Amino acid sequence: MDVGLLRRLSEAYGPPGYEEEVRELLRGELEGYADEVEVDRLGNIFFHHRGEGPLVMLAAHMDEVGLLITHIEEEGFLRFHPLGGIAERILPGQRFRLRGRRGELRGIVGTKPPHIMKEEERRKVVPLEDLFIDVGAKSREEALEKGCHVGMTGVFDTAFTELGDGYLMGKAFDDRAGCTVLVEAFKRLCEVDVNVVAVGTVQEEVGLRGARTAAWQLEPDYALALEGTFAADVPGSKPHQMSARLRRGPVITIVDRTTITHPKVLRTLIETAEAEGIPYQFKEMPMGGTDAGAIHLTKRGVPSGTVAVPCRYIHGPAAIAHREDFENTIRLVEAFVKNVSKS
Ligand SMILES: [Zn+2]
Repeated sequence: MDVGLLRRLSEAYGPPGYEEEVRELLRGELEGYADEVEVDRLGNIFFHHRGEGPLVMLAAHMDEVGLLITHIEEEGFLRFHPLGGIAERILPGQRFRLRGRRGELRGIVGTKPPHIMKEEERRKVVPLEDLFIDVGAKSREEALEKGCHVGMTGVFDTAFTELGDGYLMGKAFDDRAGCTVLVEAFKRLCEVDVNVVAVGTVQEEVGLRGARTAAWQLEPDYALALEGTFAADVPGSKPHQMSARLRRGPVITIVDRTTITHPKVLRTLIETAEAEGIPYQFKEMPMGGTDAGAIHLTKRGVPSGTVAVPCRYIHGPAAIAHREDFENTIRLVEAFVKNVSKS
């Protein structure tokens, strides 16, 4: 895999609704390979490789969890609303990149200093409505002067880091891990005679929205959502709660909150992995949902499934994943498309 590509995707700015930077990275990678590239009215991007066989849609969402500024206090502090699922308990002290009227600015989620908190206050999670962002402004006027405005968005401020031994750390692996797999698998599939469309979707984190219009336009015969899913192989998790583990290969969903993987898709994924000697694991906790949830309900229905790179700590400031899992996920997706196209 191209770690540089994951780095660029991870560091790109793309909260729900504002995916243009990620879209342009995908375009730069794939327009030289695709027969046709289009962008729809919501911002989904499509890369077509036209060949023989059923149309297979590969979808990876371009957005990441972020936040939206909802109010600027008299004293210059910013109130916000999360875009996508971010746990309030992880927010205090986090650094954010915000895109204001005058370009990018930095801020931190501030709280009262612990020194002046009461004992019970110190122990409890600060509710979202009590949190605020400090961008270094003494008044609303100064904040506006810096380019802050209501409606401004923000994402975690995290530099991509290689931890050594194949471990990779960065923000937004949900779903820039899936975007990386999408790019690499599509490039390989352009060398064979299959009918595949790679789609970068918008607004997944707020309700699988882009995938809905994308699938409606395409009416694919099969679809796979490519994801970065949670791995809970950390101290304190019981074996049956880990769901997925690092370095055990791509994570295949059987069921989650939004879909039951179509039996033919599931069978083809398993048979492909076994035939190719690709390690794989099942998502053992039926939590969360992916673009497959919206895609499979399109028009007359689309047999769909999800394949994901296991990542620890998703929806936080930084996730950790392993290079081997990327490589095996790319291999599985490539071989799956070839096999499902023959059947
Ligand atoms: Zn995701």
